[in-house]
Amino acid sequence: MTVRIGVIGGGQLARMMIAPAVELGLDLRVLAEDEGMAAQLAATAVGDYRDLDTVRAFAADVDVITFDHEHVPQDVLRALVADGVQVHPGPDALQYAQDKLVMRARLAELGVPQPEWAAVCDAAELQAFIDENGGAAVVKTPRGGYDGKGVRVVRAGSEAEDWFSTLSDGDALLAEELVSFTRELAQQVARRPSGDIVAYPLVETVQRDGVCAEVIAPAPGTTDRHVLVAERIGRQIAEGLGVTGMLAVELFETDDERILVNELAMRPHNSGHWSQEGAVTGQFEQHLRAVADLPLGSTRPRAPWSVMVNILGGPTEGALEDRFTQALAEHPEAKVHTYGKAPRPGRKVGHVNVTGDDLDDVVYTARAAADEFL
Ligand code: ADP
Repeated sequence: MTVRIGVIGGGQLARMMIAPAVELGLDLRVLAEDEGMAAQLAATAVGDYRDLDTVRAFAADVDVITFDHEHVPQDVLRALVADGVQVHPGPDALQYAQDKLVMRARLAELGVPQPEWAAVCDAAELQAFIDENGGAAVVKTPRGGYDGKGVRVVRAGSEAEDWFSTLSDGDALLAEELVSFTRELAQQVARRPSGDIVAYPLVETVQRDGVCAEVIAPAPGTTDRHVLVAERIGRQIAEGLGVTGMLAVELFETDDERILVNELAMRPHNSGHWSQEGAVTGQFEQHLRAVADLPLGSTRPRAPWSVMVNILGGPTEGALEDRFTQALAEHPEAKVHTYGKAPRPGRKVGHVNVTGDDLDDVVYTARAAADEFL
């Protein structure tokens, strides 16, 4: 019988699950936030993912619920589980991707390497943390941050007054040491409900202005020890937190050669887009296989190097289609993926994947194709 998978959230991640779902013979449904998003997707419903009745009605027609984002409230998720719905990842796992303070506390219990951190309730507590950690801290809002929003480097407790003033009683901000990192890495793994796990190659992610700009797979110049450590961390977190589906672990590589966990995403992730053409099993196919509890696919790279470059919205609207045609015409080696989003400066509207034997050539072609959109 055809397995019906319901994806909550109608962004580009849901969109990129469509082709693999068709190929695997899975029936994919999407609960999109609005009609505009729904127009970009296959079979969809439209409604508010925070509303239990809406989500319940959507879930009634599918075998498995999964996600394009991590924002579905815990009470909605727990009600679905109580109804007997298969939810992957489930609320017990997802809470650690929804709240960075809850994540830090749990990773500490698991003994996973991470930056020094503390929950701070006011400017005085933040100041004390700064004084103990070399005169600086990274302050984060525990919930709802993305692409660097909700992250601030401070050198005095008073620099986060505006965030403290909006906290409800009993709530706290997350303070972290300002990690002196040489680069950022990401480790992805996929885990089935029955327990099987596969790991992807460790990749390097390059951020600009808090947004992922490029990914190189595998991460160049990495020691065997780092590859082993990162994979062990990925597996340990997937098992320890009971993650089902794709898990991305964002990592810092430090000056003194440590690997520290920055944050987690429990869904396909920007750091894994390279795998669409670069691995035997792309992350969108793998996520569907994992949440449907089907056998997982090989994560072996298809080429020595894969590079992904994000396309950030250009200056003008309307011209995107011309630029798209231009990119295809000029760069036949590049695989250009578009998200059907209106371009706004800085907004992720697509990405380019290129694979090959020579890293310099691959980087050059991927950047050149993405630059057609500037
Ligand atoms: P978001 O949830 O918005 O992606 P992150 O927690 O990943 O936020 O932080 C965004 C970026 O800020 C990271 O990619 C990294 O470059 C920088 N950053 C985050 N935490 C730290 C830290 N403790 N030390 C140094 N830089 C950090």
